[in-house]
Amino acid sequence: MTSTSQAGTASRSAEVEGTKPLVEIRGVDKHYGETQVLHGINLDVSAGEVVVVIGPSGSGKSTLCRCVNRLETITNGSVAIDGVPLPEEGRELAKLRADAGMVFQSFNLFGHLTVLQNITLAPVKVRGLSKAKAQERAYELLARVGLADKADVYPANLSGGQQQRVAIARALAMGPKVLLFDEPTSALDPEMIQEVLAVLVGLAAAGMTMIVVTHEMGFAQHAADRVVFMDGGRILEIAPPAEFFDSPKHVRAAEFLAKVLRH
Ligand code: ADP
Ligand code: MG
Repeated sequence: MTSTSQAGTASRSAEVEGTKPLVEIRGVDKHYGETQVLHGINLDVSAGEVVVVIGPSGSGKSTLCRCVNRLETITNGSVAIDGVPLPEEGRELAKLRADAGMVFQSFNLFGHLTVLQNITLAPVKVRGLSKAKAQERAYELLARVGLADKADVYPANLSGGQQQRVAIARALAMGPKVLLFDEPTSALDPEMIQEVLAVLVGLAAAGMTMIVVTHEMGFAQHAADRVVFMDGGRILEIAPPAEFFDSPKHVRAAEFLAKVLRH
């Protein structure tokens, strides 16, 4: 019985080959005033795929995330989620933006609200869920991130790792089609990094589509379907992790890896 081995090693992106990408980023340029920080970004992400974005500081990783859910306007190009192009602004954008959840380095929880209130606020206000339904869902999500007993606690009484897991539950509560993570573990003490990465691995296994900016190379190697390497506002290389880490094609990627893997 070796027939499953091939399917077992095929990437999830390959499995969904032929279907329309969930996220389509086409020719995206971004300028801040005179400075161009993104140059012709093209990236398709399939449903269920985990794309890890790496690259040196200032290479445009955060800007790319922010452009994908239109926290930033783009200068040229287009971003579509599930076939629907994101508009510049307006009511429609607010609705569509919820399709792309974002988790930041700095958690950004509301300090004056309990964990439960943090998670239920937007589903009630933006998605129009009843309070009871939103709370039921929040408890499920808290269990999923291992914090079932923290619903009534304030963020200040949680560790950084716990706060970030609440932030992930909060993002999930909106029912996003894709989750964007911008260095979700960079603000954490080393002993808390793994508990957050474990949640990401669980989400990936459950089929969540994710774009993850991270410096955690172990996570990139083990959890990514594809690695995207950025430098100077450009995508220089896209490859499956085994290929990227074994034999990066671009000289800048090789230099970057030599630097980060030396530590
Ligand atoms: P990364 O996340 O890879 O470190 P960023 O996307 O934060 O990179 O930044 C890319 C470039 O854009 C950097 O040169 C940065 O200084 C510049 N930049 C980011 N945000 C702004 C802004 N609001 N105004 C002007 N320049 C910005
Ligand atoms: Mg950044």
